[in-house]
Amino acid sequence: MNSSSRNTGALKPDELKAVYAISRVVAEQLEIDDALSQIVRLARPVFIFDNAVLYLQDPKSEILEPTFARAIGRGRTSEADLSWGEKAARETFSTGQIHLSKPEPDKDSDRLKQGYYLGQPMLVGGNIIGALVFIRFGGPNFSKEQINLAEFIATHVTQVLERRRLVTRVANLEAQRKLAQLQSDFLATVSHELKTPLGFIKGYSTTLLREDTEWSKSEQKEFLEIIDDEADRMAELVNNLLDSSRLQAGKLAMNFADMDLRLYLEELVDRLKIRFPDLSIKITAKKEEYNLSGDSKRIIQVLENIIENAIKYAPNSPITIWLAENHENISIQIEDFGPGISEEHLEHIFERFYRVPDNDRSIRGSGLGLYICQQIILSHSGEISVRSEIGKGTKFMISLPIKRNMLRAKDQQ
Ligand code: ADP
Repeated sequence: MNSSSRNTGALKPDELKAVYAISRVVAEQLEIDDALSQIVRLARPVFIFDNAVLYLQDPKSEILEPTFARAIGRGRTSEADLSWGEKAARETFSTGQIHLSKPEPDKDSDRLKQGYYLGQPMLVGGNIIGALVFIRFGGPNFSKEQINLAEFIATHVTQVLERRRLVTRVANLEAQRKLAQLQSDFLATVSHELKTPLGFIKGYSTTLLREDTEWSKSEQKEFLEIIDDEADRMAELVNNLLDSSRLQAGKLAMNFADMDLRLYLEELVDRLKIRFPDLSIKITAKKEEYNLSGDSKRIIQVLENIIENAIKYAPNSPITIWLAENHENISIQIEDFGPGISEEHLEHIFERFYRVPDNDRSIRGSGLGLYICQQIILSHSGEISVRSEIGKGTKFMISLPIKRNMLRAKDQQ
């Protein structure tokens, strides 16, 4: 039988009221400190004590340690000098039984040295996890009813502890499950992404090597170009994987130097126009030069990724790039007028491996690009954000400090 229900039958109305209020606290509170403070406050009018101390065994060191202590009655102004019932706690803990002790009779002694101790074992599933000790200075002795009430309180405190332990356990299990899911998604994505180009490379090279067929020069060139393209794709994916794991470990070093962002951007746009001859892309800038301190290779990697995403996910849409500057930052905005990204996905697109599930599945990608972009921008003490509207388009906004932020940059090294 549950000891708390056994005890409540003999309680007086005000005691019953306190007991009920304590049950409510237990049902609602998960924070052990808050719960105990409230329990002590509620118990005190019906059950006089000066100190309440909760001792719990540390699961690692196995030492019994005071985790919560309240001095409320006599001597609350001299907490440091009070006895906190360590001996009673150890006794309760070693026997697993209720412990009662009172001082040796000594008329002259200070009341604060005349401690009456009541130790209640804290039991979870038959195992002892600690002791709850109540202390009265100068008596009187704890009565049978008060011992019952203390037992009720101890049972309830145990319930708070047990509930908190379960909640932590569930949270840990959930985190483990998510991690396992992430790892398996990662392996599936990476294997798939590597297998596709590998399949083409293998297929076309085997085809070229067949001895029963003569391939014309132009066919051979076409097949070799496919092999070349697919090998590039594989190299890109492997580089992305390496960058992403280095960035995550904080080990991707940035080579800061003065750079003219506009110049690099124009070179990038020229290269893209050669690869995508139908591309409509325009840079709008008021100034000739936009100088800042940054790792040009990495910043261009970011811009290339965002523009290539616009080409992939907003095909046939014009792309507009704006450059602007105030006295501290350079801002770059890259906008397309494609299908856009819905709000529920927009908040995740900078996460590692996140791809919008409604994407056309034939569009290749690993979901690493924007994660890498964000990490690179953060390494420059900059900011990156995105705005998008379904059916209207997507705009990425980057802000980079003109001068290298020495503090943040130092963290990077
Ligand atoms: P990847 O392109 O390899 O999938 P990214 O991290 O670069 O990975 O992008 C994450 C996702 O964000 C993409 O899968 C895509 O769904 C979405 N996305 C990125 N840019 C755009 C864009 N301009 N328009 C629509 N969706 C986009």
